[in-house]
Amino acid sequence: MTRPGTLPSNPNSARPTGAVSFAALERAYEQSHEAILVTDADNRIIAANPAFCRLSGLARDELLDTNPDTPVLPQLQAAIRASLQSEDFWEGEIHDQSKGGTRFTRWLKLTAIRGEDGYICNYVANLSDLDSDKEVADRLAYLAYHDPLTNLPNRLAFEAQLAQALRLCERDNHQLALMVIDLDNFKNINDSLGHHFGDDLLQQVAHRLRECVRSSDLVARLGGDEFVVVLPEIETPLTAARVASKVQVNLGDSYRVGEHVLYATPSIGISLFPIDGLDPNTLLRNADTAMYHAKNAGRNNHQFYTARMNEAAGERLQMENELRQAVSGIAPGHCEFSLHFQPQIQTATGKVIGLEALLRWDNSTFGRVSPMRFIAIAEDTGLILPLGDWVIWETCRLTRSLKDQGMDDVRVAINISAQQLRHDNLLLLIRGALACYDLSPRDIELEITESTAMQNPEVTLSILDQLAAMGIMLAIDDFGTGYSSLAYLKHLPINRLKLDRSFVTDIETDANDAAICTATIALGHSLGLELVAEGVETEEQRDFLARLGCDTLQGYLYSKPMPFADVVAYLQSHQIPIE
Ligand code: C2E
Ligand code: CA
Ligand code: CA
Repeated sequence: MTRPGTLPSNPNSARPTGAVSFAALERAYEQSHEAILVTDADNRIIAANPAFCRLSGLARDELLDTNPDTPVLPQLQAAIRASLQSEDFWEGEIHDQSKGGTRFTRWLKLTAIRGEDGYICNYVANLSDLDSDKEVADRLAYLAYHDPLTNLPNRLAFEAQLAQALRLCERDNHQLALMVIDLDNFKNINDSLGHHFGDDLLQQVAHRLRECVRSSDLVARLGGDEFVVVLPEIETPLTAARVASKVQVNLGDSYRVGEHVLYATPSIGISLFPIDGLDPNTLLRNADTAMYHAKNAGRNNHQFYTARMNEAAGERLQMENELRQAVSGIAPGHCEFSLHFQPQIQTATGKVIGLEALLRWDNSTFGRVSPMRFIAIAEDTGLILPLGDWVIWETCRLTRSLKDQGMDDVRVAINISAQQLRHDNLLLLIRGALACYDLSPRDIELEITESTAMQNPEVTLSILDQLAAMGIMLAIDDFGTGYSSLAYLKHLPINRLKLDRSFVTDIETDANDAAICTATIALGHSLGLELVAEGVETEEQRDFLARLGCDTLQGYLYSKPMPFADVVAYLQSHQIPIE
């Protein structure tokens, strides 16, 4: 039996685990001079070794009885709380006080332990003596100038080294290139798989980046998934272009992280000294602007900064202002927004069974703006909330109008973005709109993208459960572009999977895409889900998908999204099942 406060017992304790037996590990823990503390995910102490008891002046039982809200070692437990969920490893100096009032200083290493499901189950705190002031100073200096995750120089070190490199270039009349590198898919990976997978990926990226450049070049991590490379003393900008291409090729290759194969292509912006700027700030700002251009140009490419890019940045700001005004001016009669509808066809019968509502914006300055563009701005600025509310109400209003004209059996799908889904008011809003237009929950469907469904799994699950309990149909949009596992999807109360257009486009020519479609349809069906294919443009694609048993089809082959005025006529002429 395990005494409380000793290491939790190993169910296989009789069996030696590899070279080190569990008993040996237990002895090491018991006899270590370093104080070791183990807490659960809620910061409750579950084990402490004798060295820890000596340091804290508390007996094991006293430690185990403590409430995390009234900590015995406030500094230590605050450090654990601060790192909750955000980091898997932290180290630094802490000062605290034992029960008897003796003050102590220790070097704390805090490690989060994750279970097989990826959730944190324990924290292990390891407190060691500070051997000498010199050692502490060295460690602190190292941490001050390095990113602990990748060991690359951090922003502070980068700024100092860039300033130094610029002085040398100025003196010797050399050119220098600064590259800002941002990963295209990182947020998606981090949100859907969790920080620990994200961290592992970033370490591999750092390693590959170093391999792309010479040892005299500077590689640093500025934070998140943003890296910089400085190439001092380049002969011509072509050198920078060559290095950028090499970075694209190397980083674009697949990564193995745990059991996943991941892709994280880079978008790269380049600025040159002296033509694009003379000081670190200007060069960094301009390289950043170029990087955003690389993103807008379809990602996975590199762009050199040009003065014209600032005009585009100005344009985006202007568009943001126009969007803000358009949203605040939403009123019946003179509204810049409208909804178009695209039919969804039952594969087996050719019957129209649903419509997807797609938002349109016609602006006096910019004309018709692509939803890909303005919805991204609406999401960045929070305008998506009022705009999304309008989409829900307007869809319900028009659905009522369809019913009044005798079109009673088409369901209308509404796209819901991540912020809307997590906003408190979503359920009330939907209830209100349904009641107002005398609709049943079965008359509408909500589409959420795969990556939205993967963010904050617990919160998402609870919201989706409430929506499903109301009787609302739920679909996963753009399926195949994220990293969700079917094991996770199994727990969500969803009805349909919408296979992303990118797989359908090349279904006949790309064996990979065909295999993905085939497997997804089969697996989806085995989970009891209905499969919808998006972007069906040709009869060949339709036939291929029909052979795979795909239930529903949507795409230009049947119709482009059309204004409401045309929907009624379309439905009237297509509602007769094809024999
Ligand atoms: P989505 O939800 O994946 O919508 C499907 C998009 O594919 C639509 O683009 C549609 O016009 C297009 N499409 C449909 N069939 C075909 C086809 O056969 N070939 C090709 N090439 N394209 C096809 P659209 O209307 O430009 O919308 C783009 C995206 O904007 C949507 O992608 C959705 O993510 C977002 N969006 C549109 N309306 C709303 C909205 O009301 N709320 C939110 N949150 N997002 C919206
Ligand atoms: Ca959609
Ligand atoms: Ca889609």
